[in-house]
Amino acid sequence: MIKNCSSALATLILITLTQFCFSQAPIKWKIHDLNRPLPPAVDPGTASTQDTPGHPPSDAVVLFDGKDLSHWVDKDGNPAKWKVENGYMEVADAGNISSREAFGDCQLHVEFSEPSPGKGAGQDRGNSGVFLMGLYEIQVLDSYENKTYADGQASALYGQYPPLVNASRPPGQWQTYDVVFHRPHFKDGKLTRPARVTVLHNGVLVQDNVELTGPTAHGQRPAYKPGPAKLPLQLQDHGDAVRFRNIWFRELKGE
Ligand code: MG
Repeated sequence: MIKNCSSALATLILITLTQFCFSQAPIKWKIHDLNRPLPPAVDPGTASTQDTPGHPPSDAVVLFDGKDLSHWVDKDGNPAKWKVENGYMEVADAGNISSREAFGDCQLHVEFSEPSPGKGAGQDRGNSGVFLMGLYEIQVLDSYENKTYADGQASALYGQYPPLVNASRPPGQWQTYDVVFHRPHFKDGKLTRPARVTVLHNGVLVQDNVELTGPTAHGQRPAYKPGPAKLPLQLQDHGDAVRFRNIWFRELKGE
């Protein structure tokens, strides 16, 4: 009997602890509450094909629509000097470029195409990068039948997380990154919440809400430094003629 009581007590404690650990903040609205505000309607746009870029959702901020680099600057804040032709921009020995718009939490869409025919190997084959807040790199690389270290291949969070699978298309084909990013939070000069990133590469989940250890660096993992809540997006010039098109973001609110 005593044994039964103690095991029942242990079970009860376990259930309570489990509920405590996994409980969420209660929803303040009644179920099916007709007073609950409806979300705004958004025209979702259209998906891209290899030949034609799609249309962004109606509430997206467009950073590149294939026409010009008016939303982009070089490292000195001067107009970006990458090549623009035939609806895409191309890395052109002019350094990294940054968006004029600064943002933190976001849904981001980027399309890229690797030089074709591919040349070079490992990290020297179609290397570029998408730097969230200019700090956290989603690697851009020609990883189609091209081996390199796991945390440096296409769609890796460089130096931290390899993708779950390699969903790369052959060079010359358009590829997509769809990203959900939550910025790091700081209080009194200390990190209170690390950045989190989800990435779909060509529609395939490759980064599942991973927690970044800090900003990207080559050969090291530096700690976070407190900084602003919004910073420009950056695209990397790594010396390879990678092309980009159809770049847009939707700012996420509520965190
Ligand atoms: Mg890179």
